[in-house]
Amino acid sequence: MKSGLLFHIAGLLFPARCYGCGEIIQRRVFLCDNCLKKAERLENPCTGCGKPEGECDCGKNKFTLNITAPFAYTGSVVEAIHRFKFGGERNAHAFLAEYMAESVKERFGGVELDLVTCVPQTARRKRQRGYNQSALLAKSCAKLLGLPCKEALLKTRNTKDQHKLKAKERAENLKGAFSVNDTSVIDGKTVLLCDDIKTTGATLNECRKTLLKAGAKEVYCVTAAVVTDTASKS
Ligand SMILES: [Zn+2]
Ligand SMILES: [Zn+2]
Repeated sequence: MKSGLLFHIAGLLFPARCYGCGEIIQRRVFLCDNCLKKAERLENPCTGCGKPEGECDCGKNKFTLNITAPFAYTGSVVEAIHRFKFGGERNAHAFLAEYMAESVKERFGGVELDLVTCVPQTARRKRQRGYNQSALLAKSCAKLLGLPCKEALLKTRNTKDQHKLKAKERAENLKGAFSVNDTSVIDGKTVLLCDDIKTTGATLNECRKTLLKAGAKEVYCVTAAVVTDTASKS
């Protein structure tokens, strides 16, 4: 009875809110029904670039990512990821990771993954935000997939903000920005690399290359969302 009352008080003080619109909702879920309707699920995205059918730009890019993602970066998902990254709603990672892990099982179900890791941040950025959102996603995904999680990558220098740069400059900006601190952790392993959003894929590609160079057998990627042509125009 007593714990029931505490639970009730906690519910009044910290009501469950939809990560998409901020409305108070009855159950602790990721998005309210209305926002969930507006979220665009990615059906069978291209594993090279993560984009939906008809938008594949693998030919244009000189890399392939082995990627999957549950959502297009549009509508309520943009709001939710924004709240997660900048609004201090760090608990959103649990919900996003559920969709990500599901997407991995669907697309890479036949792959024997050994380890989950994340896109790193510099120590300075982590201090500013208080957490690395990619590390939170990686930890939750690993738990859901029954795999170990290691922060194997380091970001060794500060880079310019990727979203302010053109596609060509993005790749240049990141060259040599990452390293692996302990190669024995990933040597011969099939690794799942987690991040929140895939935009051009330059960051994931650079991290992937760094892991492969350090001895990983293969690297797969999963993000919560992928920026698509249709979504970026709407
Ligand atoms: Zn909502
Ligand atoms: Zn593609």
